[in-house]
Amino acid sequence: FGFKGCQKIRGPQIRNLLEAKDFFLFDCDGVIWHGEKAITGAAKVVSSLIRQGKNVVFVTNNCTRPRENYVHKFYRLGFTDVMLEQIFSSSYCSALYLRDVVKVRGQVFVMGCEGLRSELQEAGVPCVEEADDPDATIYDCALAPDVKAVLVGHDDKLTFLKLAKASCYLRDPDCLFLATDNDPWHPLSGGRILPGSGSLTAALEVASGRKATVIGKPSRFMFECISSQFRGVDPAQCLMVGDRLETDMLFGSNCGLDTMLTLTGVSQIEEAQEYQNSELTTNHSLVPDYVVDTIADFLPAFEE
Ligand code: PLP
Ligand code: CA
Repeated sequence: FGFKGCQKIRGPQIRNLLEAKDFFLFDCDGVIWHGEKAITGAAKVVSSLIRQGKNVVFVTNNCTRPRENYVHKFYRLGFTDVMLEQIFSSSYCSALYLRDVVKVRGQVFVMGCEGLRSELQEAGVPCVEEADDPDATIYDCALAPDVKAVLVGHDDKLTFLKLAKASCYLRDPDCLFLATDNDPWHPLSGGRILPGSGSLTAALEVASGRKATVIGKPSRFMFECISSQFRGVDPAQCLMVGDRLETDMLFGSNCGLDTMLTLTGVSQIEEAQEYQNSELTTNHSLVPDYVVDTIADFLPAFEE
């Protein structure tokens, strides 16, 4: 395409691009919905792509729910044709990594939400039970002898005790250190933000003197999960659509996919242009191939 390279595309250019691609990867928050509110037109875009026979998958760094919950959420927000097999979350992919890649023997200590724990359990990966009195100190708790991995994700019930226990487990060099994702923060309504998994990972990296292996975007592993479950995925036929340059665009470029930034979420087009003009060439991986205001801009392409 002559129009590739950090510029807004519209009308016939969008139509050509959608015709040329047969596999669409959508980030969720900021692209498909904002929290509990669907982006206007997004449900129609998704169902139109599916109806045209395109493959559509969702890649979210949100590790707080098991995939089953996402199916319900999609349905609740009007996406009535999204199935479990189309959902790739950082919690699901973390479970696959522990089960199939490292084949963890022993228990996993989870510093994360209940939803992350249940996704691991669903995959048959045993987790340490969180049974301690929250007022206890690190001296009051027994440390499990067979913890072979610490997995950090977004944790809205984080306690100092959990952080202390995770730090203790990571003293063992044979205990793996994984993070569901490294997102720094997430926007909420009213100008508020939510600290992301990355902020908790950073705390544990400092305490342990170690670096976590990141499972979610921008790491390639989520794309490997998709490739292993959809036969014959050709990166050249894929379009990764996201709202955050540092996660979604980098993920796409790490995996050899064309990337599209939508301006309904975190990143602005000016930030993309700054990365494009940066002398640091590694910053160029954060630059989207295409930009649209919203995925609702796809809609005219589905009309006759
Ligand atoms: N993690 C948490 C806890 C979130 O609340 C969000 C967005 O709301 C995300 C991750 C980012 O999700 P996504 O990758 O779908 O933008
Ligand atoms: Ca997002």
